[in-house]
Amino acid sequence: MEYSMNEIEKKVKKFKRKKLLYRPTPISRLDKITEILKGPNVFMKREDLAGLALGGNKTRKLEYIIQDVFDSHSDVIITWGSVQSNWCLQTAAAARKCGIKPILLLLKTYEIQKEMDGNLLMDFILDADIRIMDAKKGSVVKAKDVEDILEKISNEVKEDGHKAYTAPIGGSMTGFSMKIPLGTIAYVDAYLELKSQMKSMNKDIDCIVLASGSGSTQAGLIAGAKLCGDDTKILGISVSDEKEGFSREIEKITEQVGDCLEVNMDLTDEDIIVLDDYIGEGYGILNEKVSQAIRLMALNEGIFVDPIYTGKAFLAIIDLAEKGFFNENENVLFIHTGGTSALFPHKQGIKKFLSEKQKIRNKI
Ligand SMILES: *Cc1c(COP(=O)(O)O)cnc(C)c1O
Repeated sequence: MEYSMNEIEKKVKKFKRKKLLYRPTPISRLDKITEILKGPNVFMKREDLAGLALGGNKTRKLEYIIQDVFDSHSDVIITWGSVQSNWCLQTAAAARKCGIKPILLLLKTYEIQKEMDGNLLMDFILDADIRIMDAKKGSVVKAKDVEDILEKISNEVKEDGHKAYTAPIGGSMTGFSMKIPLGTIAYVDAYLELKSQMKSMNKDIDCIVLASGSGSTQAGLIAGAKLCGDDTKILGISVSDEKEGFSREIEKITEQVGDCLEVNMDLTDEDIIVLDDYIGEGYGILNEKVSQAIRLMALNEGIFVDPIYTGKAFLAIIDLAEKGFFNENENVLFIHTGGTSALFPHKQGIKKFLSEKQKIRNKI
């Protein structure tokens, strides 16, 4: 079933949000990248300019989640993520802006220095209550162990006479204090925003490309397009999970959002497009191709993409354009979901991968 933008907006507006975002985030055409790729027309939506800390898609999710914190009469927010988590930084920044105390459980899940750099430095400046959890050598952090610690922290807050809201990792799936997929609803709203921005430029969007981690941002965009009856392809570039299971996960969240908005999604397999060809060595691991994609964007547009998410999505755009996946005149909207502060803790890798090329260039 199709709805008008007004009808969808009305449904989304039932969920209140705290204003945190510069709205709308800008969209501009990447002229030089378009020229280099010889089409498609590449546009970028700058969610990285969202307004809190160094920006990113988590700001939009947090507008709804912070409102939920207020509605539950809590004054502390607890959440977790990796040591350099964009979500945790954004949560801490949003919390501080709104007079809520942030507690972050940071998991040392992959090989990255635990030094004060990148997001961890900003978490520290924000005076977030930081608890670092080390996985034992060679093992992974168990979900049950994380849950136990979260509960312990929550009880600690209660004993201090405060009330904690525990937000699920990434603001993505429902769970803990978040009963509604608010992070995904935020991206149904984002779809309406970007559609009307492109419309005012007299452009249709043939394809949206974004980095997909939990899939909740992608699910929101899919729901938005589906409800509007648009045949815009929403291409999720997986940064960690394999296509099969991940697609089903995204389908589930999209259906869940449909239930919340009281609409029937009627999803088909073609609606969920995930590519897992750009994960490289794994989540959070930088490689040479991504480093070169980061440089290509910087060199031509003066814009930075990041090593973990947007760099991989941009690499996908370059590769797909080379392989003729897009038509020459197609309009492709690349969502810059943020994360550029990850450049700093990855400085060794970037230096290593880019200096070889530098040497070659210096000889010419
Ligand atoms: C969290 C994040 C994503 C992925 O968002 P999901 O909704 O979890 O798929 C993409 N890019 C950046 C920079 C992020 O921090």
